[in-house]
Amino acid sequence: MKITFLGTSSGVPTNDRNVTSVVVQLGKRYCLFDCGESTQNQLRLAGVSPQKIDTICISHLHGDHIYGLPGLLGSMSMMGRRRQLQVIGAKGIRDYIEQVLALSFTHLSYDIVYRELENLNDVTSVGSSGPYEIFAIGLVHRVPSFGFKVSAPDSTGEFDNALADQLGVPRDKSRAMLCQGKSITLDNGKVVTSAEVIGEPRKGKSFAICTDTSYSDNAIALSANVDVLVHECTYAESERDLAIRGVHSTSHDAAQVAKKANVGHLVLTHFSPRYGHDEPILVGTEPIFTNITMAVDFLSIEV
Ligand SMILES: [Zn+2]
Ligand SMILES: [Zn+2]
Repeated sequence: MKITFLGTSSGVPTNDRNVTSVVVQLGKRYCLFDCGESTQNQLRLAGVSPQKIDTICISHLHGDHIYGLPGLLGSMSMMGRRRQLQVIGAKGIRDYIEQVLALSFTHLSYDIVYRELENLNDVTSVGSSGPYEIFAIGLVHRVPSFGFKVSAPDSTGEFDNALADQLGVPRDKSRAMLCQGKSITLDNGKVVTSAEVIGEPRKGKSFAICTDTSYSDNAIALSANVDVLVHECTYAESERDLAIRGVHSTSHDAAQVAKKANVGHLVLTHFSPRYGHDEPILVGTEPIFTNITMAVDFLSIEV
């Protein structure tokens, strides 16, 4: 999986930060998380074809997360898209899209399948993109808002050919039987079990994205043990009063979530436009959580 930030500003764009959107490569497909104004331009600059996007997840209906959707959906149609698009998002997203398209006389060349979210208090599977499963949970914001997690499938253990050679397993159908979990008996009477020659299965990678939200126990439940957590950080801790008023997070809130959820890497985004690049947003986070990156537009992170 590869996460690319297309916009890292909250509310309004700045000279070097567009409003919120993140695109994630899942094998050959892409999944888009939020779609602030001008996201389609950012996609072009990032070299991602909109036609490869098969799922769009919308956290909530604030304008800086959805004003880019009608343009992107219209462009997909003008490019001749036929493939169905999945839209998963806060309740109302269907009405929003259908009203804008109707009022602007836009007819899409493809179908949209909707999954609208309401009142999710447990981590819930809400869809999939190929073998990747998508989960969601409700967050804490001024309007209903949802966090998402994407999990890659677990991979089965690998067959150890060198060890099988050592044990004297012939290179014939007996190796396929071992791969199927069966045991085989060698000519000398010795039994070789599947567990002897097949390594441990590996847990699939996962990442979570929580924006917009204030500090939330649900964000911790969603992102438990993920490899990468993308969390909003609208304000530095010194401006906690503004965070409380806007129902947003400070850097310390995000670091606490990362620590309690035992995540591998915390990536912050959705910064207030009041901040430049050298503002001390991370001040005081070090005793809480250390592996923190502040996203910039077009930053890519492999999971
Ligand atoms: Zn926002
Ligand atoms: Zn918001």
